Amino acid sequence: MNKRPLYFDYAATTPVDERVIQVMIECLGFNGNFGNPASSAHAFGQQARQSVEQARRQVAELVGAQAEQIVWTSGATESNNLALKGVAQARGVGGGHIITSQIEHKAILDTAKQLQDAGVAVTYLAPDAEGLITPQAVSEAMREDTFLVSLMLVNNELGTVNDIPAIGRIVHARDALFHVDAAQGAGKVAIDLAEWPVDLMSFSAHKIYGPKGIGALYVGPRAQQRLQAQIHGGGHEGGLRSGTLATHQIAAMGAAFALAGQLFDEEKAMIERLRGRLLEPLLDIPGVRLNGSPSQRIPHTLSLTFNEGGFSSVALSATIAFSATSACNSASNAPSHVLLALGHDARSASRTIRLSLGRFTTEQDIDQAVHLIKSACASAPAFWATGP
Ligand SMILES: *Cc1c(COP(=O)(O)O)cnc(C)c1O
Repeated sequence: MNKRPLYFDYAATTPVDERVIQVMIECLGFNGNFGNPASSAHAFGQQARQSVEQARRQVAELVGAQAEQIVWTSGATESNNLALKGVAQARGVGGGHIITSQIEHKAILDTAKQLQDAGVAVTYLAPDAEGLITPQAVSEAMREDTFLVSLMLVNNELGTVNDIPAIGRIVHARDALFHVDAAQGAGKVAIDLAEWPVDLMSFSAHKIYGPKGIGALYVGPRAQQRLQAQIHGGGHEGGLRSGTLATHQIAAMGAAFALAGQLFDEEKAMIERLRGRLLEPLLDIPGVRLNGSPSQRIPHTLSLTFNEGGFSSVALSATIAFSATSACNSASNAPSHVLLALGHDARSASRTIRLSLGRFTTEQDIDQAVHLIKSACASAPAFWATGP
């Protein structure tokens, strides 16, 4: 195999931490913890159940929730579907109004579209110039019949962080439910569901050094009686999500969340240091722009637009693994809906790259990336400057 590119795409997915892999492996083989957590009559099932419940406590602890408020799903996509469709169906589909934004993940936008087709009115809020959804925008969009607001904590393309507590207070004052997609926030932003006015929150393991295919939905007290299951059969997870619990996935997600809690301060400081080392030299490149708020953001994710004529992301992609928009849009090859909502046109969107850092990024990676990106800018053919 050729030398692998430098990995700068932690926002698309993370490798599973070796410590998490160990936990996962122990739940697979005959000598391990392989039982069905629902087999309460024997020791195999009881041991598996213990691992599942420990993981539930671990996930809850990182985000200030109670263990019994965590429902296992297959990932943040399913959590988002359960939250939006589940709330809409519990109140009886058709009619009513929900609020979301133009810069949500497709798992929200496509689900909102489904509800729209079923007769629910949907407002898609525009971000401000810094890529943030303001509390004021939410306040102005609230209607008499608004029953749900769904906004993300951290934007996956920009790394911007919305003021979720302030928005939640507005939503609750109007007696609506508040769902937050926190797939990019867990482990990077201090989340406190005991204090935050949030009713439903989506999580994914593979954005936080756990495996793909497992996630969770936090269901707070106000949402408990206002949520309808989407997957039926067996009545697992309090009837909210049936299906045999995947002990190895769940135990691994718990371990990943526990580890993120232990490493939180250390990792934050490290990523901030690395971000400085990456961003400062890149901002020297003539015409380069950082998309999204410079202050209300996580240090992990950087969206940079390069000057016309100065840059070809295609050449760069052989040596650096980054995202040209986001992994979720890449399938369609369309310009990023997030960048378009921020006022970019298709051309400036095509000169934009997302670099995202993580637990295994080294100073050496940063220095090499800076060198490669600067070379990619410098070596662009001169005619580009006047070209299309
Ligand atoms: C990755 C991501 C998702 C989807 O999560 P999966 O677990 O891959 O389904 C949803 N929302 C955001 C913001 C994400 O970054």
